[in-house]
Amino acid sequence: MEKDLQRLKSLDRGIQILSHVAAVLDWDQETYMPDNAVEERSDQVAAVRALVHERRTSPEIGELLARLGAGEDNPKGDPGLPEADRALLRVMHREYTREVKLPTDLVVRLAKVTSVAQARWVEARKRSDFKAFAPVLREILELTIESAELLGYEDNRYDALLDSYEPWMRTAKVREVFAHLQKELVSLVDAIRGAAQVDDEFLKADFPIPKQDEFGRFVLEQMGWDSGSGRLDRSAHPFTSTLGAQDVRLTTRYDSHNFKSGLFSTIHEAGHGLYELGFAESFRGSTLANAVSLGVHESQSRTWENIVGRSMPFWTHFYPLLRKAFPAQLSGHELPSFYRAINRVEPSHIRVDADEVTYSLHVILRFNLELKLVNRELAVEDLPEAWREESRRLLGIVPETDALGVLQDIHWSIGSIGYFPTYALGNLYGAQFMNTMRMEIPDLDERLGKGELPTVLGWLRQHIHRHGSSLTAEELVRSVSGEELKADYFLRYLRDKYREIYKLTGI
Ligand code: MG
Repeated sequence: MEKDLQRLKSLDRGIQILSHVAAVLDWDQETYMPDNAVEERSDQVAAVRALVHERRTSPEIGELLARLGAGEDNPKGDPGLPEADRALLRVMHREYTREVKLPTDLVVRLAKVTSVAQARWVEARKRSDFKAFAPVLREILELTIESAELLGYEDNRYDALLDSYEPWMRTAKVREVFAHLQKELVSLVDAIRGAAQVDDEFLKADFPIPKQDEFGRFVLEQMGWDSGSGRLDRSAHPFTSTLGAQDVRLTTRYDSHNFKSGLFSTIHEAGHGLYELGFAESFRGSTLANAVSLGVHESQSRTWENIVGRSMPFWTHFYPLLRKAFPAQLSGHELPSFYRAINRVEPSHIRVDADEVTYSLHVILRFNLELKLVNRELAVEDLPEAWREESRRLLGIVPETDALGVLQDIHWSIGSIGYFPTYALGNLYGAQFMNTMRMEIPDLDERLGKGELPTVLGWLRQHIHRHGSSLTAEELVRSVSGEELKADYFLRYLRDKYREIYKLTGI
């Protein structure tokens, strides 16, 4: 048994190395690669990805898993094995059984159609022309439904897709949690709409980009970011990419007339990056040194960006330093008005620019539509109208163009259907984790007010990061909070915060 286990671990190590090689190619493409390299690069990436798929589905892995006792009824294998090995078997069994169900031919067809679709989407969005994107989206949807049928599910076809991004999560659970979230968020947004709006005009003054970059890097360092194990670069859309156990790359973007965008993108991505650098050392080189789910990943970025990074204690420490960096732009604006400005709530069309109250409503909108598309209750050609209807219902506004509505996000063009819910789940995980952190560190706000960010990082490392994917998201949330995932903690956090900012009564 020991020999089988060692062989399985060495196969896994090889797969992880190849995945990181693919990540190097991807990262370079998004940051420094010259334009003319794009065609050959997509062949290079496809070649490495095909190798990864081939290795993950090699019959040898299936045989080793079986010999180690891992099967449908017992994914963790032989009960006599150490717990970390059993966790590895569970993750590898899950990956193997999923991937072997997808024939290479289908994977290739999906890869081809999505590479065409991305370019179509860019063009269609530019001209706000949904009809130009609809045929290729229909193809993607058909292939996605075909994949879901092959992957299998018990209740809802959407389960098979959701599971790719949020392993073991069920559609029924998301529906239940989102129903509660939606009802409460809509009423909170209504209450805010009735209150006096806060002023954030002064944050649209000219904030020179080199100074923004310098300040962002300073905050990054204060958060505990080790520049010996990563980099911060620029890209069109901020992202985080892991190139190795001690090589995590962050990107951000700056706009000289939108101070919030650059700094909060940097903090957000650093939240992702710190998670990637925090997996237990004993997991290094194994698939356990990966995030358990995209929802948990997003909980880390959104906790740093919003719960910590947009809090009064955080800025009690950092605002005097920010004013030193931008004395002219911030003169006459004291801490309370800065705090309100960075937390302004207003329903808007674009998800990535949304405030933390309306953000989850953007996600629920997409979830509702995806669910209908995947279950053939909504046709692709009716999508723009369905989007407008949902936007009116959830956000109280209707986009005038499809570029501001149904065409705004890249996800469907790259075949990522089932991904969106993880963004809102991240908010819920984050608030639920934070509730426990506050109970365990009663003077957290005082410490944040002194700039003691390592307190937060230390807690997250110990309770979240180090586990990697050795616990399921459900096990993780139970081990941290003693309960299953629910919307209440996030809703309570929002109500407490915005009651004060908008002087709301009766919520
Ligand atoms: Mg993110």
